[in-house]
Amino acid sequence: MGNITKSTVKNTMARFMLTQYGKIYLKQTHLDEIWNEKEWFEKLKKTFNNKCAYCDKKKPLEREHLLMMNAEQCGLHHPGNIVPCCKDCQKRKRHNKDDDPKKKGKYFSWEEQLEFECGGTSSAFFSIRQRKITDSIIENKYPKDVSKIIQSSIDTSIQSSITELEKYMKPLQKKIEESIK
Ligand SMILES: [Zn+2]
Repeated sequence: MGNITKSTVKNTMARFMLTQYGKIYLKQTHLDEIWNEKEWFEKLKKTFNNKCAYCDKKKPLEREHLLMMNAEQCGLHHPGNIVPCCKDCQKRKRHNKDDDPKKKGKYFSWEEQLEFECGGTSSAFFSIRQRKITDSIIENKYPKDVSKIIQSSIDTSIQSSITELEKYMKPLQKKIEESIK
């Protein structure tokens, strides 16, 4: 067993929980019975005039999760979390030399990505495109606060997994250290 880091556990856990929770949520809202994802996405592209939600260019379009399906953003695979997006805009940027140390290394939110593509929030394009995306989130009924619920349950399970792991790893580590001496 090489590198079991907190972030490896966190990411594995996040992917697993988001997939499971997403399926449960779709079932609860009976969306799983009626959501034909392929047909639905074709319609969605039309509402975006077959253009990328971020850069507004006519390019081949793919499905983009506004809230990314990772431990940071905890997005669900749900129609209210998907927009059409070109390959270039799909590469979500990360914060680097950001003033806010909390954001350092983290992925941009979809709004920050949009801001980047529009060249700032004061650009007229920004508010138009932001509005279009928010309309789609509401129209497709993305649940509110779901990411907070998931985030806290991931944090709780991660903490207990790490405590569990440490229980096993510590005696092992001791043995290894002793054998090296
Ligand atoms: Zn684009």
